Amino acid sequence: MRRKLIAGNWKMNGLTADGLKLAESLAQRAQQAADYGDPKPPACDLLVCPPFTLLWPVRDAIVGGGIALGGQDCHAVQSGAHTGDVSAAMLRDLGCDFVILGHSERRQNHGEDDATVRAKAEAALDSGLTPIVCVGETEAERDAGETLAVIARQIERALPISALAQEETGLVIAYEPVWAIGTGRTATPDQVQEVHAALRRHLADLLGAGRADATRLLYGGSVKPENAQELMVLADVDGALVGGASLKTEDFWAIATACPL
Ligand code: PEP
Repeated sequence: MRRKLIAGNWKMNGLTADGLKLAESLAQRAQQAADYGDPKPPACDLLVCPPFTLLWPVRDAIVGGGIALGGQDCHAVQSGAHTGDVSAAMLRDLGCDFVILGHSERRQNHGEDDATVRAKAEAALDSGLTPIVCVGETEAERDAGETLAVIARQIERALPISALAQEETGLVIAYEPVWAIGTGRTATPDQVQEVHAALRRHLADLLGAGRADATRLLYGGSVKPENAQELMVLADVDGALVGGASLKTEDFWAIATACPL
């Protein structure tokens, strides 16, 4: 049984005061839910991925509250002459359990390809982080009927298969159609389930059926309280990677509580 994961990708948003306020209000709600059952505790794991500058204060705000911490990217090596970069070891040292890799904004704006994502995922695994590897087709690729081929190619090339096969390392995959990110357009439940089922079949070919069955597949792309429920009930959807709606406690909490028990 896969427990759902609702992950907030704060992207490049938040100065210290805003980030702290957001983290504290979320932690408070999670704590109340855990202690008193009111509000109702969500039937999912919660994760927040703030910008690097906020990892430390957010960690202190959420510590002990059952909310996990993640980075939004890491370098492929653990230390050295890489001005401006942050390594997986540094994220781990700060208390992160997860790192988002290969987000389409990194692929588009920083020229990251699947080989780069694979090297970063290897570094993440080496440091004990669970990589959240993002895949997704562009609108042109969907219109050309290439969605499933694109997704298959991305996971074949971006996943460090031998590192993943060696031991029981963590892995999360996020399907994020590029045309649905930050646009307000969401893939339909049928489109999402089709891709997730194909992803799981393909993962089984690459890593074995047991591993494919245990891997959480998140959907991302304009998830909000209004559409969360219809997406979270899908058989192969194991949670969500949430951008814009993760910046409001009410919305993020509503998405989390939309997960079926
Ligand atoms: C994202 O950036 O991972 C994302 C899914 O963004 P949004 O929810 O804003 O579409």
